[in-house]
Amino acid sequence: MRTVLAALSTDRPLSTPALEPIVDLRRTRLELMLKVLDVDGAVHRVRGGWLATGDPWTYDAARLHRVAEARTAEQQSMREYTATAGCRMEFLRRCLDDPGAVPCGRCDNCTGPRFGAEVSAPALAAAQAFLGRAGVEVPPKKLWPTGLEQVGVPLRGKILPGEQAASGRAVGRLSDLGWGSRLRTVAGPDSPDAPLPADVAGAVVEVLKTWARGDDPWLARPVGIVAVGSRRHPRLVQSLAEHIATVGRLPLLGVLPPAGEGGGARGNSAQRVRTLHGGFVPPDDLATRLAALDGPVLLVDDLVDSGWTMTMAARQLRLAGAPLVLPLALGVSG
Ligand SMILES: [Zn+2]
Repeated sequence: MRTVLAALSTDRPLSTPALEPIVDLRRTRLELMLKVLDVDGAVHRVRGGWLATGDPWTYDAARLHRVAEARTAEQQSMREYTATAGCRMEFLRRCLDDPGAVPCGRCDNCTGPRFGAEVSAPALAAAQAFLGRAGVEVPPKKLWPTGLEQVGVPLRGKILPGEQAASGRAVGRLSDLGWGSRLRTVAGPDSPDAPLPADVAGAVVEVLKTWARGDDPWLARPVGIVAVGSRRHPRLVQSLAEHIATVGRLPLLGVLPPAGEGGGARGNSAQRVRTLHGGFVPPDDLATRLAALDGPVLLVDDLVDSGWTMTMAARQLRLAGAPLVLPLALGVSG
């Protein structure tokens, strides 16, 4: 605080950004400190920044000690509030020195029932089975992001129906309770590249079976597989594509060359589309196979993050003649 005070003059205001390098504090901390000094009358805010008032300022250790003690007591009260078996409203009213504090008859403690922490074995098994189910929809994008023309990409409005992907599937979201942590380990942005592990391969097959015969089936069975070229997980994506090809007895038609700048899906959609636009062009042999297809392509990738990779890769397959593109990923971010 003394450094901040010493840096300020009484006649030439300094802005917070100008103060920052002088006192070497993070912005939020510096702003907090200036507010405290302001309340204490040592500085004041003016047009263009902060001025020292010139009034002497001392660190009031005794007062701040009392404040800290009061905060600690408040924390303790909050813990007691959550743990109390008595009426919670009565507890709060007593904290506020209300002489009329009586049980309210309405809070959870007044009304019960109390739930124990024990779970029966059948309930646990049912919960695990529910969470362990694999499969989430990956909805196709229908609209281009706004502002593409400003970043040099001549696309706008609706994605043409003939260039869209169809509805896709993934094993799960990375945030899911069931498959989430496993998928983060295998397909998360920071996970090392390795061939598809057996348990996740099993989940992929389960997802494909449900997709084929479930309540919301694909329009037609895929007739071939294309992998999205991956910089982060080439072995994972390649082995995923090969596994599905073997299990489903489908030809692996080829791999799209990696596109984008490898930085993942950070930044806004327009920038993401810009880096992917012009990429994922099928090599000649793959293009020839795509042009001859009479059914959907299963387009496989490890992770759907912003969704633009699948969208842009599917678009290239459609432009090359694929009648339908069914995206399949291991995980969905978020
Ligand atoms: Zn109560």
